[in-house]
Amino acid sequence: MTFIRIVLFCVVVSFSAQGQILNKKNLTVYDGFFKFYYEKENDKIYLEVDSLNTEFLYINSLASGIGSNDIGLDRGKLGQERLVYFKKAGNKLLLIQPNLKYRANTKNDLERKSIEQAFAKSVLFGFKILSDTNGKYIIDFTPFLMQDTQGVAGVLKSKKEGSFKLDASKSALSLERTKAFPKNVEFEALLTFKGEPTGRNLRTVVPTSSLVAVIQHHSFVALPDSDYTPRKFDPRSGAIYTSYMDYATPIQEPITKRFIIRHRLKKKNPNALISEPEEPIIYYLDPGTPEPVRSALLDGASWWNQAFEAIGYTNAFQVKMLPEDADPMDCRYNVIQWVHRSTRGWSYGASVVDPRTGEIIKGHVSLGSLRVRQDYMIAQALMNKPFVESDGDYQPMLDMALARIRQLSAHEVGHTLGFTHNFAASTNGRSSVMDYPHPKLAFKDSQLDMTQAYDVGIGEWDKITVAYSYSDFKYGVDEKAELNTILKKAQEDGLRFITDSDARASGGAHLLAHLWDNGKTPYDELNEVLDVRQQAISNFSEDNIRSFETYSSLEDIFVPLYFYHRYQTEATTKVIGGLDYNYKLKDDGQFSVRPVNVQIQKNALEAVLNTINAKVLAIPKDKLELFPPRAYGNNRTRESFKGKTGVSFDPLSAASTASEFTLSFLLHPQRVNRILLQKSLDDEQLGLVEVFNELVNASFKTSYKDDYFNNIQQQINVNVLNHLMNTALNEDAYFQVRSLALEAINAISSLLYDKKKPVLYADQYRYMINEFREHPEKFKLDSAPKIPDGSPIGGGLCTYNPN
Ligand SMILES: [Zn+2]
Repeated sequence: MTFIRIVLFCVVVSFSAQGQILNKKNLTVYDGFFKFYYEKENDKIYLEVDSLNTEFLYINSLASGIGSNDIGLDRGKLGQERLVYFKKAGNKLLLIQPNLKYRANTKNDLERKSIEQAFAKSVLFGFKILSDTNGKYIIDFTPFLMQDTQGVAGVLKSKKEGSFKLDASKSALSLERTKAFPKNVEFEALLTFKGEPTGRNLRTVVPTSSLVAVIQHHSFVALPDSDYTPRKFDPRSGAIYTSYMDYATPIQEPITKRFIIRHRLKKKNPNALISEPEEPIIYYLDPGTPEPVRSALLDGASWWNQAFEAIGYTNAFQVKMLPEDADPMDCRYNVIQWVHRSTRGWSYGASVVDPRTGEIIKGHVSLGSLRVRQDYMIAQALMNKPFVESDGDYQPMLDMALARIRQLSAHEVGHTLGFTHNFAASTNGRSSVMDYPHPKLAFKDSQLDMTQAYDVGIGEWDKITVAYSYSDFKYGVDEKAELNTILKKAQEDGLRFITDSDARASGGAHLLAHLWDNGKTPYDELNEVLDVRQQAISNFSEDNIRSFETYSSLEDIFVPLYFYHRYQTEATTKVIGGLDYNYKLKDDGQFSVRPVNVQIQKNALEAVLNTINAKVLAIPKDKLELFPPRAYGNNRTRESFKGKTGVSFDPLSAASTASEFTLSFLLHPQRVNRILLQKSLDDEQLGLVEVFNELVNASFKTSYKDDYFNNIQQQINVNVLNHLMNTALNEDAYFQVRSLALEAINAISSLLYDKKKPVLYADQYRYMINEFREHPEKFKLDSAPKIPDGSPIGGGLCTYNPN
């Protein structure tokens, strides 16, 4: 993108040349990609359109947000991007968005027209022409800017926050960032929404929750020139893609065309082994970011330059501070914004893309400011008595939190460079910043070793994605063959790429692709994670908080420690009934699909059963005094343990929640179906009877002398029974699976009548089973108290341009 800083040209003139409407008013003129006029008296903007039927980009976004992660209307949030043009129709100008999903790339005009006429366009707005002087049209642009383009009212409604309507009397144009530049014009309007708040989130973030004001931003941006070559998408490449259907394609060729999204980058000298770029890709960091976060974000983002160096560029990728007078919403800047919300939440990397070609015009990263505190808290919970000597001993925890946000900065910038997640990378020497990293921790001599918590620098896989997307080949080189060589080399080096659709779903099956996991073999890692957790729990004391902090905060920081194993548990369950597979193309030399080795599955099952072991889930009795009823002014929040004992801390519900978590993954209908199927294909494989038997052994056949453990065990038993009943009735499960689940319930039932080995609370279990048999239609999976909000390490979900 060309990058020219132009001082805003802004003068007050008495306008007379543009026809009557503008004749007698004092107007401020903005001259740029479009010329427009501001009339203070009536708070109006008039736009001059001198070029009809010329395409450009229209992007809307939020310059100021609501500040609630749950509502999702954040500062800097990009809305839709649209390719549009003005067209004259009678006494109006229409702003039209053509349909680019369906095209005909041909010189035959009639064929092109037939596609244009077959699919709908959108008319975004109709403007009455106020004056027409030699093909220069003046339109009142104000109503367009003042619409709820971002769909704020709709979002509030869909999030059940209430019915809100735009209140025109409390809305106004906002001139501070309304600017004109040669390649783009930027407009802002403050919009106030009035309504009756009905949800819980809006009240917590808006001072008067019946009146919600945000600033909406609109950009009109010139399309880039045609000196850009789209690059073909390959499912092995890790690149995000854009697609359309080309009806002019010969019948024997695929009609869907896919191109990767990427910035424009060319070597000054494509024949040189190492060259500077014609124009570097520059990212700018929000100057509102405080230290030490600022340096960490600059550091992490700039790692990408290593990958560009690896393909023969110098200084191709740069990260700088955004100049104080520059505007982060200005479409010429790639920006990294530090965004505040009332609760911790996800971060995202969004891009403005030329829909014709896939060229990225602007990268926009939004990083939630609260998650660094969550990372700090995790370190604080895991360390052995961090504050025993002094309240000032926070540096190791801060260091770990900063190491995490270096990763985060690189990760989100990676999306805006055009890369998708690679959730197989953590199993492969942490080969990508595009995975979700879980801290890698261990205890050495009773002290927590955090030196390996997070990796530093760009990974080997990231170099592959950069090579695929950004290599500038010498003139005359066969690009297709070169690109294939890059991916072949990755394959030979043992690098694997598996993304969201195979990793995120709770029914997922891949051996390697998991979120927030570590290690080559998930069960070994799970056992290690459980060891770290156990040791940290036994070390846990009042010295995990500072002097004169309330004991209630001990409970708060204990939450992520207690559930520290949750992601590795999820990863390990997915191996059971799992598959190993690649995004294979014919002749590419990769294997396609094979079941996970039976021994790995058995080891995984054994490790997973540890997570429903009463001794693992019992919070040691001597720790319970660390969790008194909450101090005045320190109520429980959404981040707290949920319980059934009122003011007192509830260790039984904590165990119930954790075991429920495991069972919901282990007995996911898709997973149990696959286990049944794999056994039918290969008798050596792990089968469902074995899984159900192990579950019964780990629950109803387990008891302790200690009554505390026995009561923890009952929480687990009830969950096992309920989940088996759920499986037996689940319409998504195979008939055979449901039948085997019934057999497992019958097996439990017979234990309840065994007089030689009486089962505790047998009457109640018998009652449950009888009720289930007599009134299956009344059965409802009675979930344990909800686990506090997920992904504490990273913040839930990380979104980027979807396709
Ligand atoms: Zn991401």
